[in-house]
Amino acid sequence: MRPRELRIRLYDEVLRLRRRGLSYRQIIDRIQSVHGVRLSKSHVSEWIRGIHSPYNGIYIPSIDYLKPSKELSYIIGVVAGDGYSKQRAKKYKGYNDVRIGLTVKDREFAEEFAGCLSKVLGRKPLKPSYSKHRGWFVVEVESKTLYQLLRKPLEMDRLRPFIEHCRGCMAAFLRGFSDSEGSVTTDGRICIINTDKSLLNYVRELLYRLGIETAEPRLHIKAGTPLKDPRTHKKYRTNKDAYRIYVPADSRLRFYQLIGLTIERKKKRLENYLIKHGLLKKAPSQTTPPFSPSLNQLPDIEHNGVYCRGRDLNPIGRFHRLSTTRL
Ligand SMILES: [Zn+2]
Repeated sequence: MRPRELRIRLYDEVLRLRRRGLSYRQIIDRIQSVHGVRLSKSHVSEWIRGIHSPYNGIYIPSIDYLKPSKELSYIIGVVAGDGYSKQRAKKYKGYNDVRIGLTVKDREFAEEFAGCLSKVLGRKPLKPSYSKHRGWFVVEVESKTLYQLLRKPLEMDRLRPFIEHCRGCMAAFLRGFSDSEGSVTTDGRICIINTDKSLLNYVRELLYRLGIETAEPRLHIKAGTPLKDPRTHKKYRTNKDAYRIYVPADSRLRFYQLIGLTIERKKKRLENYLIKHGLLKKAPSQTTPPFSPSLNQLPDIEHNGVYCRGRDLNPIGRFHRLSTTRL
């Protein structure tokens, strides 16, 4: 059996040649001359007619096949915050030993994350599981590909092309990160907290590119401060300094419209602030105003007019490397 990645490469090539109108025989000859592999006619026919595909089983075999999308950016934002990417210490035969997940108390956050995971991985819809005892939702997938991309500590150089793909992807990353690490106070202040100062500075850079200027991160909680976990009620001490940034008052409406929040109770507080200050009108028949975008409504268009439809937009970068590789 040929390695899956090679089969996928050949499969993509076969479909491409077929679209160009080549016959089965011509396709087989072409594949042989370029890749040195002689495919059988029935093999090619099954691929073309969609009976078999090497994508079955694992749909996204490696990072190189991940395409930039708002959903992937959202996942990156969430994992950069509260989400986890873990490798099991003990390996079990036949089991995938890497997991990407999130534990949260807000259903809509868990559902958004789950929806993005199934879309990015091309898997059947994923449902968060609920722990009644603990009162939280858990979403978890096993994916070597996502683990490769998202293992911690995060490698921002690897993530940047996905996050900065277009304005929509930047906004989706910021939304995932704010859903995870952001809070809205009762008086409408948006605060984002994280222990990684450089990550917060990167968040500031992205906010700036979307027209939201923020001040430098300030110390929020010093390492060693005793705290109580609101989920488990266990006492613990912080082992790292935590920093915070604020979205300034005059950018809150922009934040609401361009990035938005998924978690209802946070969104509600921000809406109340905006309504109170005359920046947002209360919708007459709805409990929530219809202005804040859902994730798939985030802006699609780049400055240079390129659309984000998850296609490879970087003409010479790593996304195109495979199509030009010769075996
Ligand atoms: Zn994009």
